[in-house]
Amino acid sequence: MGKNDILFERAQKTIPGGVNSPVRAFRQVGGTPRFVTRAKGPYFWDADDKRYIDLIMSWGPMIAGHAHPEVVAAVQKAAETSFSYGAPTEGEIELAERICQLVPSIEQVRMVSSGTEATMSALRLARGYTGRDLIIKFEGCYHGHADSLLVKAGSGLLTFADSTQNAPSSGGVPQDLVKHTLVLPYNDVAALEEVFKKQGNEVAAVIIEPIAGNMNLIQPSKIFLATLRDLTTQYGSVLIYDEVMTGFRVALGGAQSLQGIVPDLTCLGKVMGGGMPMAAFGGKKAIMSKLAPLGNVYQAGTLSGNPVAVAAGLKNLEIISREGFFEYLTGQTTKLMTGLKQAADESGVPFSVDSVGGMFGFYFTDKVPTSFEEVTKTNIEAFKKFFHLMLDQGVYLAPSAYEAGFTSIAHDNAIVDDIIRAARTSFKSL
Ligand SMILES: *Cc1c(COP(=O)(O)O)cnc(C)c1O
Repeated sequence: MGKNDILFERAQKTIPGGVNSPVRAFRQVGGTPRFVTRAKGPYFWDADDKRYIDLIMSWGPMIAGHAHPEVVAAVQKAAETSFSYGAPTEGEIELAERICQLVPSIEQVRMVSSGTEATMSALRLARGYTGRDLIIKFEGCYHGHADSLLVKAGSGLLTFADSTQNAPSSGGVPQDLVKHTLVLPYNDVAALEEVFKKQGNEVAAVIIEPIAGNMNLIQPSKIFLATLRDLTTQYGSVLIYDEVMTGFRVALGGAQSLQGIVPDLTCLGKVMGGGMPMAAFGGKKAIMSKLAPLGNVYQAGTLSGNPVAVAAGLKNLEIISREGFFEYLTGQTTKLMTGLKQAADESGVPFSVDSVGGMFGFYFTDKVPTSFEEVTKTNIEAFKKFFHLMLDQGVYLAPSAYEAGFTSIAHDNAIVDDIIRAARTSFKSL
């Protein structure tokens, strides 16, 4: 038995399932999770001291590579002056100013400690601002684990627009709560139009992953986004871009900068904190000023704007703002995806790929999917085999076919070649 197995057994005694977040448990792919001891650049090492090329990068945050010396130094410096004060600091202003500058739709921003807090607070704010209860989300999008977002639509297309047919997608979520959430299929313009025609005046907010990364990687169509922006404007509903994953990851200005859409509110997280527990939500001043202490929408946090996290975030944002960062990152990710596709083709494996900036998706099917339903129809069995073949060769992919993958600036040509070589071997033995 290896050290990972020993640790996993031990972990399960005091931690439910042995992990502090479910996807880490390898439930979809089977096998033993790797317990990480250290990481540097594009690599991490497990408890058996086996080295892996990391293609999840903490699910996005480590875009500058693990343990970037400048970020480490910034964190060390901040830590020397205590970890938290519960009183404001100048660093928070600097970070807020930086965010507003990089994402112009954000006029004001409030810092929190996790993406879940960001989306939960943004929804409360949208409801407080509009005086309406109903929210719309899209099937396959993940917005953290707040109660009102852990909802799945009833089966059958007709029930999509009927929230009374909703079911909580988690235990512990009251049926009464999910009736305020409509779940619509991603990229379905007609469903969106129909719902707004019927109930537009009741919709407080529409929340969307503007490039979905929690059902593998799924891109929205131009017409879908344009319709979304038009309808929310027309009916006075708040459009919330959940860019917790895509913010500072697909481009410096996030997905909205690539799509030319100006959302009312934006949620940020992951890259924003460079690996520290840090997230934010922000947007139009008219909406943000409804927040306490100015307005009557309550929102707070003991560790919000934590000075050590702020130091990491500021340095991380400085690094990714440097000349050529995103051009290089995007180029490396494209190179990696082209290589994987080529390797699959050589072995005649039905396979397709997509990527935006430093975020990618690959699918065991001929055509890139456009909805959650299509993702569920890809060959999950082939994915599971591929995952373990890659893992054995020291390449760590997301342990689920429903997650996007992530690169960093440390994924240079040699790393990309190593991954493609491992993939070629894996495809051959599929
Ligand atoms: C990760 C993620 C969240 C939740 O963030 P946490 O920090 O895990 O709470 C919310 N929305 C999106 C789009 C995410 O990818």
